Amino acid sequence: VPELPEVETVRRDLEALATGRRVTGVEATGARSIRRTSAATLAAAVEGRTIMGAERRGKYLFCRLDGDVLVVVHLRMSGQLRWTPAGQPRMAHTHVVLHLDGGHELRFVDPRTFGEVFTTTPDRLAADAPGIARLGWDPLLDPLPRARFSALVTGRRRQLKALLCDQGVVAGLGNIYSDEVLHAARLRFDRTSATLTPREVGRLYRAIPEVLVAAIEARGSSLADAQYVDLLGRPGSFQHQHQVHARAGQPCPRCGRLVIRVRYQGRSTYFCPGCQR
Ligand SMILES: [Zn+2]
Repeated sequence: VPELPEVETVRRDLEALATGRRVTGVEATGARSIRRTSAATLAAAVEGRTIMGAERRGKYLFCRLDGDVLVVVHLRMSGQLRWTPAGQPRMAHTHVVLHLDGGHELRFVDPRTFGEVFTTTPDRLAADAPGIARLGWDPLLDPLPRARFSALVTGRRRQLKALLCDQGVVAGLGNIYSDEVLHAARLRFDRTSATLTPREVGRLYRAIPEVLVAAIEARGSSLADAQYVDLLGRPGSFQHQHQVHARAGQPCPRCGRLVIRVRYQGRSTYFCPGCQR
């Protein structure tokens, strides 16, 4: 499932490849992928417009077009955005295609169809997508002084993993990177946030951007069960640097104890019983 590092990798690719390209046509065949809008509305909003750049907030991607039009892409479980030469055979589950001048297409592919594509404008964004308006701290975009981060964490009684995965608190973390951040901070997933000492808060505060920046440098994580690839279809390599996530039964690189997998909120959580408290 794409989280902040994967979406940021796609954003950077998109910014580099698509900026300056004009949308010459739109095909939207996947009704569920465009459930907030219609094929006609999507086409009317973007046809003839030029892509000015790409932005990201949390796990949402925004393609900025001239005339203050935004194409919002949320990959969710299995969505992929792919840059392909025009006319190349389409993969199964290709639901939306933007035809661009210069001979390329931007394709939204999504086998499980939880992802979506819709258009809006900057001033209508909050009304059109309340989920985006409610996003919390984006660790890459928003400066957050340590005192305010401390209040965010210790002012609540939540288990740390649930807190970190709450998009209204920290935007962009999910199952993979919350495990890696908590290992880097030497904290257990089920610690109650209000019990953290100032020193522990400091470790968590540093670990979040540290892990995310390293993951972006490695172009994200592509696990065996995940479908994540970048805009050109290439997998990321951060999975080779994971300390705990998807490493059950293997030794912790820091202390040598074997990594444990537990069921938490319906999904697998990984941690080291030796060095995470
Ligand atoms: Zn350990």
